[in-house]
Amino acid sequence: RAKALGKARYKIFDTVMYSETTKLLQLEIDLRRAVERQEFLIHYQPIVSLKTDKIIGFEALVRWQHPERGLVFPTEFIPVAEETGLIVPIGYWVLREACRQLHEWQQQFLENKLIISVNLSSKHLSQSHLSEQIRQILRENSLEPHNLKLEITESVLMENTQSVRTKLLQLRELGIELHLDDFGTGYSSLSYLHCFPINVLKIDRSFVNRMDIIGESAEIVRTIIALAHNLGIDVTAEGIETVEQLKQLRILQCKHGQGNFFSKPVPASAARALIAKQLDLYQFVIHN
Ligand code: C2E
Ligand code: MG
Ligand code: MG
Ligand code: MG
Repeated sequence: RAKALGKARYKIFDTVMYSETTKLLQLEIDLRRAVERQEFLIHYQPIVSLKTDKIIGFEALVRWQHPERGLVFPTEFIPVAEETGLIVPIGYWVLREACRQLHEWQQQFLENKLIISVNLSSKHLSQSHLSEQIRQILRENSLEPHNLKLEITESVLMENTQSVRTKLLQLRELGIELHLDDFGTGYSSLSYLHCFPINVLKIDRSFVNRMDIIGESAEIVRTIIALAHNLGIDVTAEGIETVEQLKQLRILQCKHGQGNFFSKPVPASAARALIAKQLDLYQFVIHN
């Protein structure tokens, strides 16, 4: 009887596994089609100077416009995209489109200081012509290297130290800044940061989100900012949601911030309106 029960249980588990596998396979099939048909779009989240309150640029965040399911968020498809290697064409598309869009805004607003920050997957860092490709994309869009920031995660640094280091150095030699995303969630410690050419730490939102309610989070944020400053590295706080968090970050002299308190990631048209508003050109834009 126990054996029968065990078997039945195994069967249920099996069915669940089966449907999970089917779902993943379907996702992969859909994703391949999405790459062919270019079903992606970018939402832009402002990055704000905590000193001047001005938008200095945007982070490009990919979305998938699925024909039946509607807008699909990256947390759902990036893992499969990375496993299948589809992240490479998707990532290059994001880079091209984000650079094209930034150049359009720079021209519209005569504002060549605006920057765009793009997330780079570890798969890109094993592409042999990465830096040439990126230089080409910048050239095609008449952008300067300092207009583009590339975000990598701590896990990338942990993967294959020597070849990753070489790739990162090539990008730095082009004049592109490297930003370490989701800082604090990985295995990395501040002590090895000097081994890599990192310009900015982006403190993960899980710490920023709780810094006004949990003392320990505030302490972590304070420590990260202080040590980063000692290493000559700037800090961007992710996921700012309340004015209290903003106030604390200002006191800690955190340079830049991002989060729903300022704006959620928005479509290009809304991002354009945010730039226009900041430049006091809102009237001008809506009448044109
Ligand atoms: P990320 O690079 O850390 O991006 C920040 C994420 O936090 C975004 O989620 C953004 O919508 C969310 N966020 C920003 N402010 C707040 C806030 O105040 N509160 C809360 N709760 N969330 C906030 P999103 O757009 O869903 O992207 C998730 C992750 O997917 C990104 O995390 C990034 O790792 C990855 N991703 C997005 N676009 C790309 C891409 O083009 N290429 C690659 N390789 N990865 C991407
Ligand atoms: Mg990011
Ligand atoms: Mg992040
Ligand atoms: Mg993240």
